[in-house]
Amino acid sequence: MNYMKIKKTDVSNGPGVRVSIFVSGCHHHCKNCFNQEAWNFKSGTPFTDDTIEEIINAMNHEYIAGLSLLGGEPFELINQKGLLPLIKKVKEVYPDKTIWAYSGFLYEELKEMEYEETKEILNLIDILVDGKFVEELKDPNLYFRGSSNQRIIDMNKTRKSKKIILSEKNTRRN
Ligand code: SF4
Repeated sequence: MNYMKIKKTDVSNGPGVRVSIFVSGCHHHCKNCFNQEAWNFKSGTPFTDDTIEEIINAMNHEYIAGLSLLGGEPFELINQKGLLPLIKKVKEVYPDKTIWAYSGFLYEELKEMEYEETKEILNLIDILVDGKFVEELKDPNLYFRGSSNQRIIDMNKTRKSKKIILSEKNTRRN
C-alpha cells in the first residue's frame, strides 16, 4: 500500500483535532473528486511499520481525538491489508480515541465483501462515512462529508442493533 499524505492536526475529517492518513488508489473515479492524484495506486510513499509508528506517535497528545482514514479508497483490498495493522494498533494503544473511515463503497457493499480484513475493519472502526462523492449533491454546509448522499454511520450502534444507525454528526449547518 502507498499513501499520499498524513495530516497531524486535521480539523476537517471528523470531530476535534485528528491525525488523518490519505491512502493511494481508488477505482471509483467520482466526478470532480477532491483528490484525483490519489487515484493511482503507485502514487505517494510506501506505507511501512515506520509509518504506523509515526502515526501512533502523532496521536500521543491529549488534544488528538482520533484517527481518520481517507483516500483514495481505504477499502480497496490492498489498502485494507495495509490499514488493518494500523487500526489494531490504534485500538490497542488509544482505546478511547475514535477511528473514522471514509469510503466510496456503501456500507451494504462493504458488508458483502468476502475478505476477512473487511469484516475486521468494520468491527473495529467507530464511524464509517460511506458513498461516492456526487457533484450534483455537493453541499458545503454538511459536516464532515462532501455530498448529501453520503452517510455518517455510527458503527458501534449499528453493530449492536444490526441495522444502520446514523451518527448525530450526520447533519448540516442550518
Ligand atoms: S471515492 Fe473519494 S477518492 Fe475515490 S474518486 Fe470518489 S471522492 Fe475521489
